[in-house]
Amino acid sequence: MAHIVQKLTDFYLLPGIKHCSRHKETSKWRKIPMFGVEVSNENALARELERIDEWGGVDIFKIAEISNNRPLTCVMYTICQKRDMFSKFKLSPDKFLAYMMTLEDHYRDIPYHNSLHSADVAQSVHILLSSDALDSVFSELEILAALIASAMHDVDHPGLNNQYQCNNSSELALMYNDESVLENHHLAVGFKLLQQDQCDLFDHFTQKQWQSLRKIVIDMVLATDMSKHMTLLASLKTMVETKKVASSGVLMLDNYTDRVQVLQNLMHCADLSNPAKPIEMYKKWNERIMDEYWMQGDVERAAGLEISPMCDRNNTSVEKSQVMFIDFVVHPLFETWADLVNPCAQEVINELATNREYYASLVPSSPSPVGDEEASNGDISADVGSSTDTAEDGFTDEETECCSTPVPSRPRCDNRFQFQMSLDDDPADLIDAEQTANSQTATKNVLKSKSSKNL
Ligand SMILES: [Zn+2]
Repeated sequence: MAHIVQKLTDFYLLPGIKHCSRHKETSKWRKIPMFGVEVSNENALARELERIDEWGGVDIFKIAEISNNRPLTCVMYTICQKRDMFSKFKLSPDKFLAYMMTLEDHYRDIPYHNSLHSADVAQSVHILLSSDALDSVFSELEILAALIASAMHDVDHPGLNNQYQCNNSSELALMYNDESVLENHHLAVGFKLLQQDQCDLFDHFTQKQWQSLRKIVIDMVLATDMSKHMTLLASLKTMVETKKVASSGVLMLDNYTDRVQVLQNLMHCADLSNPAKPIEMYKKWNERIMDEYWMQGDVERAAGLEISPMCDRNNTSVEKSQVMFIDFVVHPLFETWADLVNPCAQEVINELATNREYYASLVPSSPSPVGDEEASNGDISADVGSSTDTAEDGFTDEETECCSTPVPSRPRCDNRFQFQMSLDDDPADLIDAEQTANSQTATKNVLKSKSSKNL
């Protein structure tokens, strides 16, 4: 196969690749464990995985504890078994597990972008793919590719974001010319590890199968770059307004562009799904992302660099930034997704509303201008322009008068609202997104988000 022919003579040329012997544990097994990982209490793991087919149905943190810190391997093996991928594609379970363990070993021990996050995203992708509106829409190869993409989508994340990489001309930024630096790196590492002995679970694929899978994985992982958010959302809005639905209620997607756009948005939703999960899990994810941002801020402070938005542990309102993150990023995205797969995602929207109110209730009573705040979580932050005009300070008169704990108002339905990434900012992409939104009738309302409705 082409991917075998392309092997480099020096396996370790690529940054981030390391010697990894732990996967060899699979060769010692006489029989593969029920969930793909050796554990002392298989029944406890079985109980944790019982609801793997439900949104928010599994506690990834507990699975990590029980599985000896192998949440990604365990979740991916369980999902692929349930979806019968091993027989459909004649995948070797040994190679699959060797690859997953090797991949998992290449996730770093950092607070957020670790293998727990990738396991969470994989499980979320599994659920979103199961929407009734997408029943039989995607081929089995596309489903397999989507799951593999979710597993590798943040591998070897250093805990320092794209903006940091570019601002500091890191090795990775130089290697990828400042373009989707981390996402390109995750893909390179994820694919490179497939070439390691015992790991090439696709070595029996035809060239056509392999190329299709690789293309989908690349397209999906690159879509997790937050600077592409507005473009993705615009494409999703267009799709909603022009969607064709069969009498069965299933979406009709008859070309690759449409199909991959849905998969990219599905991946993006899964990647930003923390605020739409049960509150106890959302809180844990939130603590972790803040820890990671603040670690970056500490690095920047120590180096005498300007501290990135959201990364200053001495000057970030966690609660307000969560409310804004939901209002300006997550809710518009999930609401549009829900429109696409209507009525399948109502439960997710409800969870988001409940969680939004939780964080809104914790916002301190003395408001500061919204322009000074940033929204956080997932892989991004967002702010809403820099006006200091009291009419645009993010709080309505009604709210400041009637509530002892005013909450930021939801996005206004006019063009004063400017969406702006602040962590993985890419001005060119934002301009592109704006132009895309302005040039397409179907996306006229991208910035006039329905977010002004109650969550
Ligand atoms: Zn991610």
